[in-house]
Amino acid sequence: MKIVINGIHANLRFASAHMIPGHEFCGGIHGHSYHVDVVVEGERSGQFGFVVDFKAVKAIVRKLCKKLDHKVLLPLESDQITFTNMDESLEFSIGSKNYVLPNEDCCLLPITSTSAEELSRFFAHYVHQALEDLGVNIEGVEICVNEGIGQGAHYTFRT
Ligand SMILES: [Zn+2]
Repeated sequence: MKIVINGIHANLRFASAHMIPGHEFCGGIHGHSYHVDVVVEGERSGQFGFVVDFKAVKAIVRKLCKKLDHKVLLPLESDQITFTNMDESLEFSIGSKNYVLPNEDCCLLPITSTSAEELSRFFAHYVHQALEDLGVNIEGVEICVNEGIGQGAHYTFRT
């Protein structure tokens, strides 16, 4: 059985800036109001016959949304971004473009790109791991990271 959480209605949102290096329109820094839809699949169990408590899933997703909210998202594993200083100021270059940003304004993520596709994969792994840490026996986590209303990327992590 599956439980489904709608990111807009459950307030699983974050507003962040990013760029897609090399992309004609998305190469410059710009922002999105993201929301995250979640599906958790598993067997019903316990006193209440839940797949998993909605509240537990929402708390996990919200924690990650909060980490990303109002930050410039930067992918640490991109082969197109060269980081030259990672102290108080974050200095990096993308091709001929040089950036200096306060570290506290940025969120560095262990992914290759901050595309909706990669963010979705990252969220799915994170939520899956967090549920496992709680001892929840699940079969899969499906995430859709939406870049605004009407467009998002789905990723399913199967146990
Ligand atoms: Zn974008």
